[in-house]
Amino acid sequence: MEIRYKSTRGDGTLISASQAVLQGLAPDGGLYVPDAIPSLDTPLQDLAEMEYKEIAYLVMSKYLSDYTEAELKECIEKAYDSKFDTDQIAPVVLKGQAYYMELFHGATIAFKDMALSILPHLLTKAAQKNKITDEIVILTATSGDTGKAALAGFADVEGTKIAVFYPKGGVSRIQELQMVTQKGDNTFVAGVRGNFDDAQTGVKKMFNDTRLKQELKERGFRFSSANSINIGRLVPQIAYYVWAYSRLVKDGTVKAGDKINFVVPTGNFGNILAGYYAKLMGLPVHKLICASNDNKVLYDFFRTGIYNRNREFILTTSPSMDILISSNLERLIFKVCAFSPEQNRQYMKELAEKGVYTLTLNQIAQLEDFVPGYADEKEDAQEIRQMYEETGYVMDPHTAVASAVYRKYLKETEDTTPAVIVSTASPYKFARSVMTAIDPAYDQMDDFALIEELRKTSKIPVPNAIREILDAQIRHDHVCGIDEMEAAVKGFLKV
Ligand SMILES: *Cc1c(COP(=O)(O)O)cnc(C)c1O
Repeated sequence: MEIRYKSTRGDGTLISASQAVLQGLAPDGGLYVPDAIPSLDTPLQDLAEMEYKEIAYLVMSKYLSDYTEAELKECIEKAYDSKFDTDQIAPVVLKGQAYYMELFHGATIAFKDMALSILPHLLTKAAQKNKITDEIVILTATSGDTGKAALAGFADVEGTKIAVFYPKGGVSRIQELQMVTQKGDNTFVAGVRGNFDDAQTGVKKMFNDTRLKQELKERGFRFSSANSINIGRLVPQIAYYVWAYSRLVKDGTVKAGDKINFVVPTGNFGNILAGYYAKLMGLPVHKLICASNDNKVLYDFFRTGIYNRNREFILTTSPSMDILISSNLERLIFKVCAFSPEQNRQYMKELAEKGVYTLTLNQIAQLEDFVPGYADEKEDAQEIRQMYEETGYVMDPHTAVASAVYRKYLKETEDTTPAVIVSTASPYKFARSVMTAIDPAYDQMDDFALIEELRKTSKIPVPNAIREILDAQIRHDHVCGIDEMEAAVKGFLKV
């Protein structure tokens, strides 16, 4: 079956997978979605014998129809190699009452590596396939982790340049250092005086600016996106849900065909949407538990059917989830609107103009695969401490949001379905929040002393990604206003 892609806001025009990867966002401002969901036709029992890369190929080949087997396998080999500190790529470990799927063993120690170590290869292959000779300019807004993972993926990749915007003051110290020390002549990093939503809106505006696009085209540049709106990020993420299931079959926790739950710490709705696609493909998933922090716009949405971003933006210790406009939700909205671009456009217009839209009862009824939950700052810190005291396992604050939500879910539902908590970052990335959750006295120490304390506490070796930045030079110190992002990009491209 050949899968093609159409925009959630368009006229139904279909394009190939490689064209969708190249475009990132559709010209009409919509997101690309597959025109059908392929089914997972391999017997589930067989998955237990496969390695990560084999499952990645199995899943991705179904969606990326116009890539040849050789092309796709080459991309997978280049992505999931020794940049990861374990052959397992994404270890699934039992701690306390749930399994934790650790997606943070890649180059930048956050789950964004799962997709961003392969996206540059998918993109350069897509350019070749479509005979694109323009230089590709990746524009990215980051709530902290995408930026570094995208920079690491694209640094010195021929035929590409990458510009990253992060909310100045809205990311952790380690996250910021990881970005501003990035090497590579084709990289640019700027702090924006605003929050993540401001940065994301600024980037989307540049994407949708036809005059700017034309101007850059004349200079031999074209924009693409490394944000999770790109299907080249979404598709690789589906693979690890299938992988997690295969591990539970392998170790005998479930029999092939039994259902499992996933708990996903959610921000832009990219990670959990990939889990939903896995379920639609036929993976036996019971519930997708959508875990939010204090910015609980999704929690309210799943409970009421009202998406309302008119609220205070709260800076938390899980900054990669500090988001009020979850871009990827649009793909789910499009589905519950029976794929009506008119209805979807209407909702997105209401969101842009009034900050709120309300689904119909019939549409709300289609959201039952998702169970919302949230954990506030106190519950999050409590969860880190409790897990450490009970099991010795040290979690980062994002994973802890999911873990705390799962604890509440178990209490409320007594649902005994085996659960996989999707672990999205290494505790080293958020050493201060993690250590002060364990004992507030640690707050007196500097960042680097905390890393040493974390090493002693967690008994996990200090990852490369952290050792690298300890004495690296700051190479990017650009800070700009929301209105100056375009000028910053032009300055970087020297146009
Ligand atoms: C990006 C990120 C998230 C949120 O993922 P979405 O796909 O945006 O929902 C959660 N935790 C960490 C550590 C992240 O980097």
